[in-house]
Amino acid sequence: MEKVVSLCKRRGFIYPGSEIYGGLTGTWDYGPAGTLLKKNIKDEWWKFTVQKRSDVVGVDAAIMMNPTVWEKSGHLAAFTDPLVECKKCHQRFRADKEEEIKAHEKSHKEKVEWTKPQKFNLLVKAYLGIIEGEQSEIFLRGEITQGAFVNFENVISSTRVKIPFGIAQTGKAFRNEITPGNFTFRSREFEQMELEFFVRPQDSEGNKWFEYWKEQRMNWYVSLGIKKEKLRFREHRDDERAHYARKAEDIEYDAPFGWSEFEGIHHRGDWDLSRHNLSYVDETGKKFTPWVIETSGGVDRALLFFLIDAYSEDGERKILKLSPKLAPYKVAVFPLLANKEELVGQARKIYENLRENMMVAWDERGNIGKRYFAQDEVGTPFCVTVDFQTLEDKTVTVRDRDTAKQERIEIDKLGRYFIEKLK
Ligand code: ATP
Repeated sequence: MEKVVSLCKRRGFIYPGSEIYGGLTGTWDYGPAGTLLKKNIKDEWWKFTVQKRSDVVGVDAAIMMNPTVWEKSGHLAAFTDPLVECKKCHQRFRADKEEEIKAHEKSHKEKVEWTKPQKFNLLVKAYLGIIEGEQSEIFLRGEITQGAFVNFENVISSTRVKIPFGIAQTGKAFRNEITPGNFTFRSREFEQMELEFFVRPQDSEGNKWFEYWKEQRMNWYVSLGIKKEKLRFREHRDDERAHYARKAEDIEYDAPFGWSEFEGIHHRGDWDLSRHNLSYVDETGKKFTPWVIETSGGVDRALLFFLIDAYSEDGERKILKLSPKLAPYKVAVFPLLANKEELVGQARKIYENLRENMMVAWDERGNIGKRYFAQDEVGTPFCVTVDFQTLEDKTVTVRDRDTAKQERIEIDKLGRYFIEKLK
């Protein structure tokens, strides 16, 4: 874990939030490589969930919502975690996180006494309005989900969706987490990617789509390179299910800090639509409240697990074996020597051409070995080097990140070559 955290800082994936002022607990900033990786994860998710399907449409709802939304959704009353305080040092923890409680107990020599668990609401408050004292209290959304429900009627009347259909969305959510930690795993500001899929209110339909989306979501992580043996489903116990869920299963990753959730598949029944007084009329005129199967993943958690899973070492070489689809830069282009004008000019041309279609990195500093090492650490699948032979026969060296093997490719064929390799 420390190796990944230090690579993230060194190579511009993730920095502590507001670092120059001592940081702000539970917030993180993404650097140039991290921003690209995050964008690629969201793009892949969107392609899979919306672009390639004809039964899902997208929305992008506001982060600030009328507070009635949170009252109706049950979050004001029930979006809580059980908080306990250590009577010795007054540190606060989540009573349901046994590992963290045990670790804290171990850190004291004498027996630790805890306060009784209190319900702690996770919604983050904000104040809107221009007159001091007359501002109204609102909440930053604790889940992006409600944005799909409040637009249920708008989507039906402005598109041609028919049940079963889904509304997809990605965006920021905020939670006043009691114990943010494990790097970005539990943050106070994070991003979610969610699908709310509306089905007819029958057990057979609910169960069928629940199983369907479970498999789809698991396959998505595997298709983007996460090792199968590092993934599992875990069904929620009755006492841990969220207030809206009839049934819930998590996709978990075998992280360095233990098996951990990075996506939840929830059967929300008719909880949300009936609380918001919303219903659906089918083509026969029958009116009913659909049930909802939800897939709710964290972009930041997915990113963290993609990084951890991709991290590998080969002697001195540290390599991020990210799927080419996710890699921040697809190709890096180098002139062998920075002070040879013909080499730089030729390399520059290749760089400009390739970046019409993909993110390409440029590096001309230091020796070529160091440049390869640097690209391995950000996960760039291919490096192109322009050398003296290039000037004679118009070929370049293409080096593969995972095998470190090199081959000569004609400049004119590079575009095609990468389209094939990066599929
Ligand atoms: P946990 O029990 O780990 O706090 P949760 O069960 O409350 O998570 P959900 O409400 O199901 O999480 O949220 C759906 C997804 O949103 C999670 O699977 C996770 O990927 C992401 N997520 C939730 N809380 C956080 C957080 N504090 N930081 C980063 N991602 C989060």
